Amino acid sequence: AGLTEGVRAEATIDLAALRGNLDALRERIGGATVMAAVKADAYGHGALRCAREAVAAGVGWLGTATPEEALALRAGGIGPDQARILCWLWTPGGPWREALFADVDISVSGQWALTELLAAVRATGIPARVHLKADTGLGRNGCQPHDWPELVTAARRAELDGLLTVVGVWSHFAAADEPGHPSIQAQLDAFRIALATAEAAGLRPEVRHLANSPATLLLPQAHFDMVRTGLAMYGLSPVPEVGSPADFGLRPVMSLTARLALVKHVPGGHGVSYGHHYTTPGPTTLGLVPVGYGDGIPRHASGIGPVQIGGKWHTVAGRVAMDQFVVDLGGETPPIGDEVLVFGSGDRGEPTAEDWGRACGTISYEIVTRIGSRVPRRYV
Ligand code: PLP
Repeated sequence: AGLTEGVRAEATIDLAALRGNLDALRERIGGATVMAAVKADAYGHGALRCAREAVAAGVGWLGTATPEEALALRAGGIGPDQARILCWLWTPGGPWREALFADVDISVSGQWALTELLAAVRATGIPARVHLKADTGLGRNGCQPHDWPELVTAARRAELDGLLTVVGVWSHFAAADEPGHPSIQAQLDAFRIALATAEAAGLRPEVRHLANSPATLLLPQAHFDMVRTGLAMYGLSPVPEVGSPADFGLRPVMSLTARLALVKHVPGGHGVSYGHHYTTPGPTTLGLVPVGYGDGIPRHASGIGPVQIGGKWHTVAGRVAMDQFVVDLGGETPPIGDEVLVFGSGDRGEPTAEDWGRACGTISYEIVTRIGSRVPRRYV
């Protein structure tokens, strides 16, 4: 591999790993279907490229949060004949007509959304494909149980009027990543009740879906017709305390590498970076890594983020700045221009996104998703 010549930093996206992860997930879910969650620029991996790869690997469903993300996939050439796209985050006044024109499936969590969507349907003459979302306990998006019978009845009425088809009934877990959490069984039970109510109203959804990555990996009873996988497809474990990516047959897709930009000798007692939160304990060498919070490296990694240079781990010394951070090389003088492995699969002994998440008190989801547009992606 190696960094592309002349670049300051790059995120390498291993598409073979992505395909391998999809194979591993499909093996695990038997007859269910995978929806590839490619929201938030495919968790930082590049939405269009990853979506294309997933579609080429036979994935027939893509999931986005916003309608704009779904429209960008269609504009990027992923046609309705190649993949269904569901956007699940309703925004009042969103581009619903455009979504109908572009054959995008739309999630509806309540009567207000249904009313607005039906206005778009009447304006365009294009019936909507709707996934009704039940709040089975997450307490975020979704329709509460006491409003659900009314919502499914209204949706069925609109279906009979030819204004829409309810193609999906779905929900989302609160704590599928915490095995044994009491909410898991409660949500499964609530989902079954929501499905039965929808059926009693005459709805016959083509896909019932509940599982995210942790449920895909740990809860076969939650697979239903389709699983919506993000993190696991990107080769990271949503349940690091239960198993590593390798334990689940997964391989991290993103590696972040930077080029060591400067190595210099400094005396002991030298303050390092803004605020001097690190002071050299004795004469040493400092290495400059040219990525910072402007690239998505959490400022919270100040003093704690791990990197590998020349086969050795070092820790961010002092504060992460917008464009750079410093490591104390302890007197060593690796060549300027050397590769700094910020995170990757771990195959070369380097830190992983999981290591960064743990160090920074967050999750690997956030580490990869934050890597910003200033960092070029290299697809291999
Ligand atoms: N479904 C919904 C509604 C989501 O918001 C997400 C992401 O958070 C996912 C599925 C995918 O989750 P994961 O990355 O754990 O697979």
